[in-house]
Amino acid sequence: APAQIAVTGLAVMGRNLARNLARNGFRVAVHNRSQGRTDALIEEFGHEGEFTAAADLPALVESLETPRKIIIMVKAGEPTDAVIDELVPLLDEGDIVVDAGNAHFADTRRREDALKAKGLHFVGAGVSGGEEGALNGPSIMPGGSTFAYAALEPMLTKIAAHVNGESCCVHVGPDGAGHFVKMLHNGIEYADMQLIAEAYDLLRHVLGLSAPEIADVFRDWNSGDLESFLIEITAEVLSQVDESTGGPFVDVVLDQAEQKGTGRWTVQVALDLGIPVSGMAEAVFARSLSGDVVRREAAAGVLPGPAGKVSVDRDAFIEDVRHALYSSKLVAYAQGFDAIRAASEQYGWNIDLGAMATIWRGGCIIRARFLDRIKEAYDRDANLPSLLVDDYFKEAVANGQEAWRRVVGVAAAAGVPAPGFSASLSYYDGLRAERLPAALIQGLRDLFGAHTYHRVDREGAFHLDWSGDRKEHDA
Ligand code: NDP
Repeated sequence: APAQIAVTGLAVMGRNLARNLARNGFRVAVHNRSQGRTDALIEEFGHEGEFTAAADLPALVESLETPRKIIIMVKAGEPTDAVIDELVPLLDEGDIVVDAGNAHFADTRRREDALKAKGLHFVGAGVSGGEEGALNGPSIMPGGSTFAYAALEPMLTKIAAHVNGESCCVHVGPDGAGHFVKMLHNGIEYADMQLIAEAYDLLRHVLGLSAPEIADVFRDWNSGDLESFLIEITAEVLSQVDESTGGPFVDVVLDQAEQKGTGRWTVQVALDLGIPVSGMAEAVFARSLSGDVVRREAAAGVLPGPAGKVSVDRDAFIEDVRHALYSSKLVAYAQGFDAIRAASEQYGWNIDLGAMATIWRGGCIIRARFLDRIKEAYDRDANLPSLLVDDYFKEAVANGQEAWRRVVGVAAAAGVPAPGFSASLSYYDGLRAERLPAALIQGLRDLFGAHTYHRVDREGAFHLDWSGDRKEHDA
């Protein structure tokens, strides 16, 4: 029988996705630009299911039932375009091309447009969970037409992770919606990791705890509201002992965080949408600062820090940091969902926000217990203006905010950088403020640039004749 689906690009992700499909009983055709990877897959894992090895793209296309469904899992960017260009002339109207790589959603929109003009369906599908997820159940965020999704749904929902019997694959929306949500997932992942790193740094430098002691703290936190994959693996990394030195593994790792760019994309896109994603932005900047060796070397030991030591009660401070971490994390998600909502409005995607939290409950890097709370929040009110004003979130932050403020204060006094905690707290305070100093900014803008202002008590735009009689005029 012809294959039901094809995968081209058999590096770690493509290979594991193909195996996942085969293990779930689907007939999979496989192809890779260099034949070696295809041969290796068949040799090592061919027994796991029904594979058809194709030597080139024409053979791959030939092996499929129609309408054809082909998953591209190659390096994002130009390689994806190269594969699409080679594939398209081989396809028939109605065939479905899936890009499961980490594409920028703008590229996905462009590709969807181009293929639609040729009568083909293009599905940009975000896939999260790394190589392990791809094999055992990733979180899948497919975009594209309803028709294309309906054709893929039985396969995608089956190979995705499942939580409480629900698949972590939901149709996100048209064209670039899936890759947009995947990008936001990565942005939130950046923020989450930065906040975890700040919590670790504070426990280490304010309390003087050792890495294994902090591992125990995280293990303990993982049994409460913070329960998540990232908290769990933080305990694992912090307990790891380096073989050559016998000390903590974390102490021998160079402290320069790298990035592949999806966090940066998130922040760039949010700037364009006009949505503050300060938690994610600080996370991206903190990674950039960590890698800025020239300036760090020029400043380390040269720029003065606080004179005295800050002393705090150990157990109380640990509990305070837990609250700061959770509250800041809630802000990161609230900001992330604001960005999704704004993009959904701008591009007409009609994204079901609660369903997005469902997709992330399993399979992906940010999987966490508290994602159920997001789903519940949008079930209570689909038009929730901000996650932070939902009852659950409001109460969680209300319980934690005093602690959060103490932690940001201690961090400043102790000279430990906590950009994620403090930016999130500032966002929270900005959001809840009844009056913001933006009024003064408007005044300044009107004085130097005649940019006009609005009044609290009357409709219309006004301008003050600053250099003349200082009287107000209608603008
Ligand atoms: P890589 O991103 O390392 O890409 C390698 C694959 O791309 C190989 O199969 C390679 O073929 C193929 N390739 C590169 N250039 C071309 C080209 N011009 N024409 C045809 N094929 C080409 O592989 P990964 O498996 O790590 O990732 C695949 C995709 O999944 C990427 O878009 C990545 O961003 C995304 N992703 C990765 C995750 C991860 O944890 N690694 C997680 C989620 C998504 P060849 O063997 O011939 O060189």
